[in-house]
Amino acid sequence: MSVELLKTPIEYLKGVGPQRADLLKKELGIFYYEDLLTTYPFRYVDKSKYYKVNEIANVQAEVQIVGKIKDIKEVGSPRKKRLTATFYDETGSIELVWFKGVRWIKPTLKENTDYVLFGKPSLFNNKFNIAHPELEPKEEATEGHTPGLHPVYPSTEKLSGKGLNAKGIAKIMKTLLLQLKGTLHEFMPPDILEKTKVMSRGEALIQIHFPQDIQKLEAARTRLKFEEFYLLQLSVLQQKNIHKTQFKGYPFTQVGHWFNTFYSDHLPFELTEAQKRVIKEIRFDLGSGRHMNRLVQGDVGSGKTIVALMCILLAIDNGFQAALMAPTEILAKQHYQSLLEFTETMGLSIALLTGNVKGKQRALVLEGLKDGSIHFVVGTHALIEPTVVFKNIGLSVIDEQHRFGVAQRAALWKKNNLPPHILVMTATPIPRTLAMSVYGDLDLSVIDELPPGRKPISTVHKFDANRLRIFGFIKEQIDLGRQIYIVYPLIEESEKLDYKDLMDGYDSITRAFPMPKYQVSIVHGKMKPEDKDHEMERFVKGQTQIMVATTVIEVGVNVPNASVMIIESAERFGLSQLHQLRGRVGRGAEKSYCILMTGHKLSDDAKTRMETMVKTQDGFEIADVDLKLRGPGDLMGTKQSGLLDLKIGDISKDQNLLSLAREWAQYTLKKDIRLEAPENRNLREVFLRKYKAKMSWSRIS
Ligand code: ADP
Ligand code: MG
Repeated sequence: MSVELLKTPIEYLKGVGPQRADLLKKELGIFYYEDLLTTYPFRYVDKSKYYKVNEIANVQAEVQIVGKIKDIKEVGSPRKKRLTATFYDETGSIELVWFKGVRWIKPTLKENTDYVLFGKPSLFNNKFNIAHPELEPKEEATEGHTPGLHPVYPSTEKLSGKGLNAKGIAKIMKTLLLQLKGTLHEFMPPDILEKTKVMSRGEALIQIHFPQDIQKLEAARTRLKFEEFYLLQLSVLQQKNIHKTQFKGYPFTQVGHWFNTFYSDHLPFELTEAQKRVIKEIRFDLGSGRHMNRLVQGDVGSGKTIVALMCILLAIDNGFQAALMAPTEILAKQHYQSLLEFTETMGLSIALLTGNVKGKQRALVLEGLKDGSIHFVVGTHALIEPTVVFKNIGLSVIDEQHRFGVAQRAALWKKNNLPPHILVMTATPIPRTLAMSVYGDLDLSVIDELPPGRKPISTVHKFDANRLRIFGFIKEQIDLGRQIYIVYPLIEESEKLDYKDLMDGYDSITRAFPMPKYQVSIVHGKMKPEDKDHEMERFVKGQTQIMVATTVIEVGVNVPNASVMIIESAERFGLSQLHQLRGRVGRGAEKSYCILMTGHKLSDDAKTRMETMVKTQDGFEIADVDLKLRGPGDLMGTKQSGLLDLKIGDISKDQNLLSLAREWAQYTLKKDIRLEAPENRNLREVFLRKYKAKMSWSRIS
């Protein structure tokens, strides 16, 4: 591998120089030869086809036409000058227009010369024109040009101004490829190359830029995606393996009194098959003597709490304490309540520790944790404070992990000699391919089944104009004894406006639902935590019928009597958020509803989001659509991590290739975990260069 050559600063490439190099760095992030080489065309144009002027009305894309120019004119004011010309062939004519570079383009245009024109027609005042066409005298255009697919590269106005438009970039790319000829060595292990029959690296890099034909282009794309996924999977799997072999954990070898008593006498319902399977997976991990770091994913209402409880009992059976951490005070309290109920009369010692537990009560809890008389504790991030000392903690359960920062989670590791086992629970489904790509040392369990008897939540999409009818519907539901959520968006960038919307909404609700017949709660981020809790509490207890809120209620709260979720400006929420919000209803025996309110004007994305919500309640299906709409970078904050900066692979579109690459990465590591074998020398070099700096990011707990 000619690493040195690839690391040559871009200014040294013939045809670039310092000025253009500066722009390439600023505009496209191209610093070295290597960066240019991996700036792949974002599309290709077929230059083997010529159109006639009278055919262009039927074409949506770029066209290539042979013809002549006449009527070259400067129009407009001196400050806003335009250049126009008429382009014609034997079938008709079309106007050309330039808004920029008028002064230097004009003298290059000649009448009575055959030109090859390339550009995209657009309709203006019912007539077609082409803005900023590429024009080449026919003689030059046909000389030395390979017909077929031509690359189109990203460019910017500034780059174009310095001659590096899409075509200019193609030109320096050609120079680069000539210079690199013979140095783009293969690094894939030979047996993988042979078995997968993927294109060689050298050829792929040429074909991706200057494809001979569509088949070669596809083969090149496949190869480069495969290579990218393969390297990524090597990194992910290697980390996982290292975690497995090097991080020791407390072995929970026995299933004892607490677990068995609970299972035989206190289980309030039959566990679902999915719950049983996940508990089994966790038990196996906990017994293995290695450190467990496991994510349990289960849609809202899939019953994660009981799974957590049974693992906690297992810890206690083995002489350890356990902690369950929730992201908010309300959630911690709810967990505490339901765990008390689940284990009532068993004689377990359970404590609650949040910021609001103060004074003597707090001292008692801290003491009990320290001397070991408290079996397990439920709390908020108050649990990670240094004053909280355990006698012997063996398991930390973290609910709704995405609400906690990495540092907060990491703090729980340090509460014993060996880090306690970590069980993270989340209702935000991560598509399998994403999980596979991002989380290295994290194992994944999925509760992919809801307890029996859940009724589907009727979901509808309504426009703002329907509001009066919806108020009527709310009244009906309240008369039936139900409770209602009305949620408003609160997005940081437009906080003031959002806040106003929320307050206006609250006003109109209190007008439509006057006291004393109706009681309306409000909860938003600007309130003091105590006030928030107080309002929430009133709603939980059924003292208020309507809860007007921002997304603070998104996660976890359980009010089984609430049967209607109305989401205002639903177009401004992401899919997973909408899904989470909807999960707040449908928790009781009653039929539940989710009403998505939007304005009439919706972007295509927003339409897809509404349609998806109406169509399905399957969190994984929703997560997949979300991934496709937003791209992986936005999800899970992986953008900052840089871990997923894939140049060509797309984990939502190329799932099969990703799985294949994973299998081959596994195959490679099985034979040579540290990539030290001679036949993996090139691979190791490329791999280390790409992933060294990024290692260990993926530890999430
Ligand atoms: P989540 O996964 O959203 O945290 P919970 O653990 O809060 O879900 O469970 C939601 C509700 O379903 C709770 O009332 C819980 O008691 C109940 N539940 C959990 N598992 C089962 C089951 N196997 N059968 C019936 N009800 C269950
Ligand atoms: Mg939960």
